[in-house]
Amino acid sequence: MYRASSWRVAAGGSAILLAAAVLGVVPAHGAEPASTCVKGGAKFSAPPAPTQPNRYYMARHISVTVLGNSGGGLGELAKGTTGTDGQYRICFAASRLNRLIVRLATENDVWATLDKDNNPYGLTASLSDVPAAAEVDFGVLAPTGGDDPAWHAFDTLNNLFPVVKAATGCWTANDAQGACRKILMKWWPGSTEPTEYRFAENTVYLSDKSPDSQHIVLHEAGHSLMWKLFDHTWWPDDNCAGHQAHRKLTRRCAWTEGFADAVAGHIKGDNAYVDENGGTVDLVNHEPHDPGKPLMVNGPDRNWNDGDDTQGRVAGSLLEWWAYPGSGGLKGTVTHLDGSNNPRHDNAGPANFEEYYGRADMLNKNPDAKSIFSDNTITY
Ligand SMILES: [Zn+2]
Repeated sequence: MYRASSWRVAAGGSAILLAAAVLGVVPAHGAEPASTCVKGGAKFSAPPAPTQPNRYYMARHISVTVLGNSGGGLGELAKGTTGTDGQYRICFAASRLNRLIVRLATENDVWATLDKDNNPYGLTASLSDVPAAAEVDFGVLAPTGGDDPAWHAFDTLNNLFPVVKAATGCWTANDAQGACRKILMKWWPGSTEPTEYRFAENTVYLSDKSPDSQHIVLHEAGHSLMWKLFDHTWWPDDNCAGHQAHRKLTRRCAWTEGFADAVAGHIKGDNAYVDENGGTVDLVNHEPHDPGKPLMVNGPDRNWNDGDDTQGRVAGSLLEWWAYPGSGGLKGTVTHLDGSNNPRHDNAGPANFEEYYGRADMLNKNPDAKSIFSDNTITY
């Protein structure tokens, strides 16, 4: 019997029962020793951009766990992840199985989306009486019960990880291979938690609609990335709440928030910040502050504060620097900031943009960097 269900679901966990005939269970030919293979995939529904109609996307790099038994208790038979196409095919030695279960979950070795109780979101399919050397196709599963945004938030980090990945296979070289600290995101339907990164918990909180904006997810992941780059030893103790791109903050807040904005705008390729309602701020602004006019974040009367204590100026500087051919892009900055690589070989992060600039020797000596930052009203 085939069963598929969303196993996080508090809302009943209603199992879908399908006839075995739809599964295409066929004996594999000539496999010696006998191996059973399972395949399938997962998809989720999400808007391509905030407020746009949903479409389906395949769930990339989610975990796949295969369980089974041939008498006695269930045991783990194999583990893997879906590929960049959201599909998996996993083979393992097995004789006839009484029961075969596949669990797909919003986690992997480097990031996860968790529910209120710190469990990943999951999908399960199972089959009874599986012959030896079978090829079992569980098909493409999809979440139910309004869980899709959790899968969307998870999937969004597939766009960031390959860009910054360290040689260890972790987010930063501070973590040893096989012992990666994950970027953890918590979301649940209807969540009214403020969207923010809580470094004390090393956890991103996403409110109900926040996963609709990939910029929001990438911004918050950018904070978690920075915390990892500093090996969990430094963070601004200023309260950055209520920050806006165009307004003066402390230099520490402008640095961390500007970095996070730049990560999002760079990965999305639009140099912008887009909120969950589609509101958009262009982060590159070469117009200096006009003290005779009111501050305005957007539109024809746009008027920002200047300098490295203004988040948008830091973001614009980083975005234009990362587009500069000799800069090494986002990865170049990540390498400079990585505690194990920075010139002082310590994990104390630069406390503001000027410190970053001063520590990164290449920047200090590069007149083009000075000119890019100056275009964005940051002059050293
Ligand atoms: Zn932030």
